[in-house]
Amino acid sequence: MTAERRTKIVATIGPASTREDLLSSLIEAGMDGARLNFSHGTHEEHGESARLVRAAQAAMGRPIALIADLQGPKVRIGDLPAPVELREGEAVVVADQDAARGDDLPVAPGVLAGAAHAGCDILIDDGLVRLRVERVEGARAFSRVVTGGVVNPHKGVNLPGVSLPVPSLTEKDLADLDFALGLGIDYVAQSFVRSRADVALLRAKLERAGSEAWVIAKIELQEAVAALPDILEEADAVMIARGDLGVEVGVAEVPLLQKQIILSALERGKPAITATQMLESMIARPEPTRAEASDVANAILDGTSAVMLSAETAVGRYPVEAVETMAEIARAVEPSLGYRHQLPAAAEAPTVGRAMSNAACDLAEALSAKAILVPTFTGKTASAVARLRPQRPIVALTHVLGSLQHMALEWGVTPLEIEESTDVDDLWRRSIDAAREAGIVSEGDRVVLTAGTAVNIPGSTNVIKVDTA
Ligand code: PEP
Repeated sequence: MTAERRTKIVATIGPASTREDLLSSLIEAGMDGARLNFSHGTHEEHGESARLVRAAQAAMGRPIALIADLQGPKVRIGDLPAPVELREGEAVVVADQDAARGDDLPVAPGVLAGAAHAGCDILIDDGLVRLRVERVEGARAFSRVVTGGVVNPHKGVNLPGVSLPVPSLTEKDLADLDFALGLGIDYVAQSFVRSRADVALLRAKLERAGSEAWVIAKIELQEAVAALPDILEEADAVMIARGDLGVEVGVAEVPLLQKQIILSALERGKPAITATQMLESMIARPEPTRAEASDVANAILDGTSAVMLSAETAVGRYPVEAVETMAEIARAVEPSLGYRHQLPAAAEAPTVGRAMSNAACDLAEALSAKAILVPTFTGKTASAVARLRPQRPIVALTHVLGSLQHMALEWGVTPLEIEESTDVDDLWRRSIDAAREAGIVSEGDRVVLTAGTAVNIPGSTNVIKVDTA
């Protein structure tokens, strides 16, 4: 079987990686997606990162998915004249910025009025400080310190399980989105998604702007976990944003939720990205801890499509080593992954594309084909094949640059560019030629192709062909 890596790797771009030679090294090491994190950095810095990613992509000849990760409605502590030390058992008032008085801890945007209630917790700085609300008067929450610590200005604030009255896209998000679309991004990662409607709102904005960008819904709120099936209907992909998710649901709940979210995404043929603290110690050291190596391996065994690096590549000392480490772990683990062949369930609404993908994977296995070739317009057929996790390499072929870059994040898919075809025979021939030129198949190898006879019409997959390269 192939020794190619199947799990994709996303690296967050920051000061430690914004150099063309470094980005080329990251691509060589295995980076498939580059994430611009709009919670940090200026437009000028992200613009430069995007330009350098595209330059490195051209130099290395491999499509890279460029992801703009919007900050979302993150609640934060406001300005403080000095850090505030809170001791267990002490009384403290947390107040919406406009309503804060005296020594109140201000939060922005204002979310407490009408949302906070007696008994709910307010977590500050990723849960390092925990307060319990005893009563609420207007926009002021009279609270008791459960876990003490020092509160610094602008630290993140979470109210687990509380539905906050904030728009899903803030003024900052809209300005960042507008800027990011000008950079030609392939994906927008939406933070603090609560519902399908939140994702639909972003999608409507993308459509209005004429953008082909796909939406990654970040699952980091209890509300999002509860609404996951609906969110998966609307989103193109999901991210298990374990940082905020751990604060919201408690760290002990994260491992099982990770498995459930990945499985739900797999069942719908949508990529899932597992994120945050995967190789955290590599920010400062060239070797991961054994626990981190196991974490990456287990996410892969859970079926994740991609694993993500955050500070490791954005500000860490060993960005290239971090990507290499992920790639090495993936190659070591993937041979143990099971093939997800499925018999169509009787109750499932029959879709031709899904049934064709199933059959194509079965044929490839039964015939020991060298590869499954998927000429595709949007990349959706390649996703449908990838969800079955076939052992044979999946090669997706398209003339649409945006689709190549979308498919860079799809598990097991090698995206290759071909020229536009006018008829289906031409499409088969171009596809086989491209797979041969890329060295994935050799002359005489058996291949299975699946595509639509209505060339260039999305969603028309209706043929499976067994051929010889
Ligand atoms: C997370 O919370 O895990 C995450 C990926 O989001 P961010 O890095 O934007 O906090």
